[in-house]
Amino acid sequence: MIKTGDYKLKCLSCGSTFPDEHTNTCINNCNSLIRADYAAKQIHLRSLPGMFRFSDWLPVDGFCDVKTAPVTYKSKSLAEELGLLNLYISFNGYWPEKGAYNNSCSFKELEAVPTMLRMQEKKKKGVIQVSSAGNTGRAFCEVSANTNLPVIVVVTDSARKNIWTTKPAENVLLITVKGDYTDAIEFGNKVCTIDGVLAEGGAKNPARRDGMGTTLLDGAITAGIIPDWYFQAVGSGTGAIAAYEMSMRLISDGRFGDKLPRLYLSQNDTFAPMVNAWKDKRREIIPDTDMPDAKNAAMNVYSPVLTNRTPPYGICGGLFDALSATDGIMVPVSKEKAESAGSLFEKTEGSDIDPAAAVCLASLIEAAEDGIIKPDETVLLNITGGGYKRAKEELSIIPAEVYAEVPAGEGIEGLSDEISRWVREHA
Ligand SMILES: *Cc1c(COP(=O)(O)O)cnc(C)c1O
Ligand SMILES: [Zn+2]
Repeated sequence: MIKTGDYKLKCLSCGSTFPDEHTNTCINNCNSLIRADYAAKQIHLRSLPGMFRFSDWLPVDGFCDVKTAPVTYKSKSLAEELGLLNLYISFNGYWPEKGAYNNSCSFKELEAVPTMLRMQEKKKKGVIQVSSAGNTGRAFCEVSANTNLPVIVVVTDSARKNIWTTKPAENVLLITVKGDYTDAIEFGNKVCTIDGVLAEGGAKNPARRDGMGTTLLDGAITAGIIPDWYFQAVGSGTGAIAAYEMSMRLISDGRFGDKLPRLYLSQNDTFAPMVNAWKDKRREIIPDTDMPDAKNAAMNVYSPVLTNRTPPYGICGGLFDALSATDGIMVPVSKEKAESAGSLFEKTEGSDIDPAAAVCLASLIEAAEDGIIKPDETVLLNITGGGYKRAKEELSIIPAEVYAEVPAGEGIEGLSDEISRWVREHA
């Protein structure tokens, strides 16, 4: 067996390969994603905790003791309701009976685990920084609480209530910004100018993508074949790019078929920049056409996690390329359809789901009704979040302590000494 951590990074634009020194960009500065090229061409599942059973295809050397992992099961009740014979559900949240222990209740935990570990392995004396409107920040805090890896999280004031952990989080530095998501990102960027603080990198971070891609891996391994369809609601599209990338690795593996899954992706109908650009098969998102009055529109949606205004869509290796390669489909979903899909899931399968996952299920219901999907085709439905009700009943929910509150547009000067000290103590 090839040892874990045997991989190189490859630029999808110029093709250069280079060793991983925790960079998320090409050594030639191409405007492109870089991808991990693993020595293991076939995946062998490891006897390691949680998602580390997929370590062959994660850009990390070691592992940490977490329960975070995707869980796939074949649906009976919902499948019957939709007239589908091969519906597989990837459940990413809290649901003990299914073995689902992503306690922060979303698939963002799948990106947080390898992202934090990779940083620790490659950069020894660093602390990762994330800016978030909710699920991502909570996921990184939860993983920090479970692994003691440090993280600096910057969120908006209004997202503060979404940041909690199920164990005490002693290595989290939480800053709230009085403003919107963009203000939080701006302050987060300033925090990253402090020595030892590293931007987490979003979709450009290969650890983040390959962590999320474990949903497709687990789905294909459970079904025994790469699914015909991959369903997900998208904000940045990172999860869908990841599913596409993992599918290519599975095709080279040779045991799971030779067909890419078709990506079937969805957004809120009131804020759907990527749906609109893809409708015209355009690589560029034109803000005035594709997301008029973006700031207001983004605040007025059923699922706020799907409102990224600058997604990695047109970039080389981004969502446009993934949709093109997979003959993908993107659809808008109304609040009413999403709500009723969410109730249908709870009634048929037995768990509450995140509004984003409800948007996704609504798109599947419509596709099944319209005959876009044949009854015997294999479908992987990514329930990207869920189980909040049970988590709140059964786990201790500890609100994260706020280290500092800053107004929008604040400079870093006033806090930089304190943050530097915290970084030295925790890195
Ligand atoms: C972030 C998120 C999404 C969207 O994922 P992207 O990779 O940003 O497209 C979907 N569902 C949930 C629950 C999320 O937290
Ligand atoms: Zn390059």
